[in-house]
Amino acid sequence: MSKIRVLPDLLINQIAAGEVVERPASVVKELVENSIDAGAGRVAITIEDGGKQLIRIADDGEGMTAEDLHLAITPHATSKLSCEADLYSVVSMGFRGEALASIGAVSNLRITSRKRGTIEGHQITVSGEEVRTSGAAGCPEGTTVEVRDLFFNVPARRKFLRTRSTETGHVNEQFARLALGFPDVGLELINNVRAVHNFPAGQSIRERIGSLYGAELAGELILIERQERDLVIEGYAAPPIRSRSTTSWQYIFVNGRYVRDRFVQHAVREAYRGLMEHDRQPVYFLFLTVAPENVDVNVHPTKIEVRWRESSLIHSQVLAAFRDTFLQTDLTPTLQPQQTDTHKDPIAVRHQMADLLRSAEPVVGDSAPAAFADAGPPREAAGDGGGAPGSGGTARYAAPGGSTPADGTELWRSVYADTAHPPQDSAPSGSPQTCGTTRPSRAIQLHNTYLVVEADDGMLIIDQHALHERVLYNQFCRRITSGPLESQRLLLPETLAVTPKQIALLQGNGELLHQLGIEVTPFGHDTVAIQSFPVLLKDADVRPFMRDLLDKLQDQEEHGKVAHTETVIHALLDMMACKAAVKAGDPLTSEEIDALVAQRYLVEKSSNCPHGRPTTLKLTIKDLEKQFKRV
Ligand code: ADP
Ligand code: MG
Repeated sequence: MSKIRVLPDLLINQIAAGEVVERPASVVKELVENSIDAGAGRVAITIEDGGKQLIRIADDGEGMTAEDLHLAITPHATSKLSCEADLYSVVSMGFRGEALASIGAVSNLRITSRKRGTIEGHQITVSGEEVRTSGAAGCPEGTTVEVRDLFFNVPARRKFLRTRSTETGHVNEQFARLALGFPDVGLELINNVRAVHNFPAGQSIRERIGSLYGAELAGELILIERQERDLVIEGYAAPPIRSRSTTSWQYIFVNGRYVRDRFVQHAVREAYRGLMEHDRQPVYFLFLTVAPENVDVNVHPTKIEVRWRESSLIHSQVLAAFRDTFLQTDLTPTLQPQQTDTHKDPIAVRHQMADLLRSAEPVVGDSAPAAFADAGPPREAAGDGGGAPGSGGTARYAAPGGSTPADGTELWRSVYADTAHPPQDSAPSGSPQTCGTTRPSRAIQLHNTYLVVEADDGMLIIDQHALHERVLYNQFCRRITSGPLESQRLLLPETLAVTPKQIALLQGNGELLHQLGIEVTPFGHDTVAIQSFPVLLKDADVRPFMRDLLDKLQDQEEHGKVAHTETVIHALLDMMACKAAVKAGDPLTSEEIDALVAQRYLVEKSSNCPHGRPTTLKLTIKDLEKQFKRV
């Protein structure tokens, strides 16, 4: 007798169930998706004991005939596919024909259904290998599926189920995903006779987010919209201050289906980069609509992952959608003085104080202001400066007015010049008149760290380092779009000890280094020589900067599956901006203060420094009046 045998059907189905049915929440998902595929306008979900005892899904969809009911519980039987080609154009949620057969193999299943337009309904029950059918008089059009005693005949699986409240939590989460993915469908959730949610059909996404997560979050969400050929992006992004420590508040939907996708996640993170601390995670709800042939949903049994036909297109479009919107949005958090009443909201106060204090730590170092790195006119104008192109001499970088950058004041004059003629591409509505930063004479410096300035409707408290860093970062970003950064030949090349791996990194990133204005040449087998360095960084230490740069490149390569040159460049510009900016504790002259404050309108639309700290906090007149009990 052969040692190999064909498994009995029930066991085959139980094994299959292992893939799709993990817990009650997975049953809810499969059954509600079936209802949606059946064209239901309303679906009611009832659970008892976290779904361990009962899950009931009732819909008003197209229903099934007696014959359909038999096929529905048969493995690999589906009405949604007929040939292989269909697999690449599926518009339904299901197509594998597995769910009902699997659920039937591991529970007591009953399906009652009446096909639309017919006069009688039918019922089928499945318990282990026993299948029974009967007529069902008086049942409404549509389908009701009841799943009792999940895993009653697979004790090993039953053991893995958690407490009622944990399983209920999973069902709630699943419900939220379905409710957000299908706002056109009315959805009701009842937990042990208690109505948890009852969403009418046709609500807006924002309404559903409000019901699920609170009106406050829903009200703060920033709408993101973009359409590029047949990719439609609709997003609701929470302001950076709402960030979390985990990615579980990142909801991505592709054609209504909730998915986890590292390309999309990476793109959104990238758009938030610089707006929040590195270890924080943004909160967002993102809905992508794509042509079915551009995404393969058949890569995971529960379809939680997808494969993109053109992942780089998805990445760049999502990144652009979020980034463009953020650039046009004022993300300045307002200080809410009523919350300084610690009895009311101690956590919020502590959070705000922490944000305030984090940057107040004076940096020990030279007390002179670091040179402000606006090294003169933008590249297009460089030729007008009189320096021979490519000469690399300082004259080329002189500020308007003719003197050399060695004189800090002159550099600041160039900042003024910039301010007087704001570039067209930045801050379209941000004319100095409207942003309340036109009275620089009223700005004062506190503790060599903060700048306080009057605004139209109150006052701004600015973190000088954070703001300067942001100003520089934006300048660097603008500049790099028009060609490599200005570079200066070092009088004495600096040598740097490197590993073979780092040499390979430097060789592989030649174009990127060129963009940044860095020239590196080999110098023996374990050393390189840095020949040229960006003018913008002339006061930074070359070696530590290069070490950080190599770390960044290495890091990028290790996570390189989604490596984008743009990402690396921005990370490096971020680093450069931080190094070149004034520090907390640096005393500034009133001229410098004025110039820095005058620059704020250029960056005010995105008011966090690249490292994620806010650059500016606002206290409105209304807040003050409340505080002084004038109103
Ligand atoms: P799939 O959804 O992958 O087709 P299922 O096992 O989930 O596989 O369902 C099998 C078939 O049963 C479906 O293709 C559909 O025709 C039918 N069906 C399941 N649930 C419903 C429902 N709620 N209303 C109408 N038909 C349904
Ligand atoms: Mg299905």
